[in-house]
Amino acid sequence: MTDIPKSHPRYASLVARERVAEGVKRGYTSIQGLIAQGRGECFDYLLGERTTPSAAAAIRAAAALLLLARRPAISVNGNVAALVPEEMVTLAQALDIPLEVNLFHRSEERVKRIAALLREKGAKDVLGEQPDISLPGLDHARALATRGGIYDADVVLIPLEDGDRCEALLAMGKRVIAIDLNPLSRTAKKATVSIVDNILRAVPQLTEQVRQLSSKPRSDLERMLNEYDNEKSLAQAAQDIREHLSSQFQQA
Ligand code: ATP
Repeated sequence: MTDIPKSHPRYASLVARERVAEGVKRGYTSIQGLIAQGRGECFDYLLGERTTPSAAAAIRAAAALLLLARRPAISVNGNVAALVPEEMVTLAQALDIPLEVNLFHRSEERVKRIAALLREKGAKDVLGEQPDISLPGLDHARALATRGGIYDADVVLIPLEDGDRCEALLAMGKRVIAIDLNPLSRTAKKATVSIVDNILRAVPQLTEQVRQLSSKPRSDLERMLNEYDNEKSLAQAAQDIREHLSSQFQQA
């Protein structure tokens, strides 16, 4: 990977860009994944490259939802594998659930490579290499899922996902947690809980919240979830962008 000096003002963003580019080279990430990363970077820039208080509240609600779930599942795509493979394994371990590789631009080779990467990072249970069922309402390759994983889950975490899959999962009666820097995306608008934050910052905090909240009674978790309002949270993200922009221009 290109050596980026830590003193560079855009260090974290450049490291993420390098990771996704490396993901393409190593065969985890599709070429289209580079464009998705660019879209994410742009929104991160507009948000001030920080976890806003509303994103932190969404992370807490997401942790509560994962802990309340009867059978939660986590979806991993090529960008997620390139950016946070270890962090996803740690989250799955904290919840004691499998990771499921699920790709928009599916190729068996990419699925295998991502599954091998997750195993190399310590994942015990990785699904997705042998899908045995389809999600209704999606075209064949994108619909592929695994019984015992996403197909049977009541709550699914879908980081960096497109709107169609989010809708298909919701139509099956599942609750969906999105991690998506774009508060205007169809995914963010439709999801039960949308974390508008960079996956690099969001996943470690989500794992931390899962650990902290795991000893709480269900009634406390239910209250946290009931207090969360996705529409208000997205409106706050838009407000955070406006405030960040005006603070930048006041300084100039
Ligand atoms: P939709 O179909 O939901 O309207 P989309 O067409 O933007 O969304 P994709 O192109 O699949 O969907 O992009 C995935 C989303 O992931 C984008 O909204 C992008 O902002 C977001 N994203 C990209 N990189 C990151 C990142 N590092 N952290 C969080 N979100 C990211």
